[in-house]
Amino acid sequence: MNVLVINAGSSSLKYQLFNMQTETILAKGNCDRIGIDGHLKHKPSNGKNAFDSDIPLPTHAEAIAAVIEKLTSDDYGVISSLSEINAVGHRAVHGGRKFFGSALIDDEVIDILEDCIRLAPLHIPANLMGIRACQKAMPNVPQVAVFDTAFHHTIPEHAYIYPIPYKYYENNDIRRYGFHGTSHRFVSAIAIEHLGLEGKNSKIITCHLGNGSSLAAVLDGKSIDTTMGVTPLEGIPMGTRCGSVDPSLIDVISSIEGTSIKETMDILNKKSGVLGINGKSSDFRDIELAAGADADTGFVDSSATPDKLAKLSLDVFCYQVAKFIGSYVVSLGGLDVLIFTAGIGENSPYVRREVCSLLEGIGVYIDEQKNATRAGSLLDVTKDGSKVKVLVIPTNEELVIARDTMELISK
Ligand code: AMP
Repeated sequence: MNVLVINAGSSSLKYQLFNMQTETILAKGNCDRIGIDGHLKHKPSNGKNAFDSDIPLPTHAEAIAAVIEKLTSDDYGVISSLSEINAVGHRAVHGGRKFFGSALIDDEVIDILEDCIRLAPLHIPANLMGIRACQKAMPNVPQVAVFDTAFHHTIPEHAYIYPIPYKYYENNDIRRYGFHGTSHRFVSAIAIEHLGLEGKNSKIITCHLGNGSSLAAVLDGKSIDTTMGVTPLEGIPMGTRCGSVDPSLIDVISSIEGTSIKETMDILNKKSGVLGINGKSSDFRDIELAAGADADTGFVDSSATPDKLAKLSLDVFCYQVAKFIGSYVVSLGGLDVLIFTAGIGENSPYVRREVCSLLEGIGVYIDEQKNATRAGSLLDVTKDGSKVKVLVIPTNEELVIARDTMELISK
């Protein structure tokens, strides 16, 4: 059984083809600049040639056609024909109030996704383009939607209701939804299995720290709170997103800049976060380097002259992560395990050290030596005597999508 996993953005389309017997990746790649000019990167894992070149990709339909052509071609392929793709799993960013789990795509699911456009206007139209392109290219292959929001459907009312007029929830579905659900679910499940915590009322906080970042409070394997809200702008500061700020800033910035609400939202989404503070980069590798940290160990060289704003942007980020962790200790009534995952969480000893140093008051201590080791698989960085286990767990959202897809088509 092979499952093709698709993550469609407005001008990009990432894919991975899984062999589900072995849960290995047969090929993966990325279509970029769809609707602009077009570029395809394709990497087979059977030793055949990789492809990395400009090709015209006017729409998502041509992108899917190009992916299928590469997957089945003599020079770059990993399967001999389309019939070897048994199902397609799509990442769907928002499932609104309707989806509590993954869903086999039919006309009703498409209708509900279309209704979710009002909640995620930047993401759902792109997800739908990916789904429609695959339906057209593979009309007889089952398609499954896996929602970023689904894992958070267990969040209780008191945590998802915003303190604004209730009618917006009742009439317009405005509430906290949360995102990165597949990642929070994947890493918390691994920790529960690794530590033998099944059914033990485990209290886990998962920190998905990447280009977009969110935290989740996971009680006994179920999400009970998360930092992102009705959109992925809320919560901790991110690469370019501001996270939680005083909502009056929209009015204040609009007055300063003479910008419309939409233009001001663009500033908060694309020009804020750590980039907004340091003015140079949203990539933590650049920022840590500018702050004088060693790329491998994250230790700061005492003879370095750190860039003040680079250091400040890291300080703001780590402080907010630690502050939300503290608030989730309240939500969970304690803390057993703290998990770091995604690009920054998996690869930045600096961020893990800074965040954990702010949490010593609640009994979180990490082993400096272990923390300076590069993760690649599960890494336990807990210091002897720490009340809380601290784990680095590489996330794998595509594998979760492939597994959910298999489960749904096997029913
Ligand atoms: P993601 O969205 O999970 O792919 O994470 C991407 C982000 O991870 C990048 O923009 C970087 O900020 C960060 N990142 C990746 N590698 C490293 C590293 N070695 N050290 C610090 N940050 C990293």
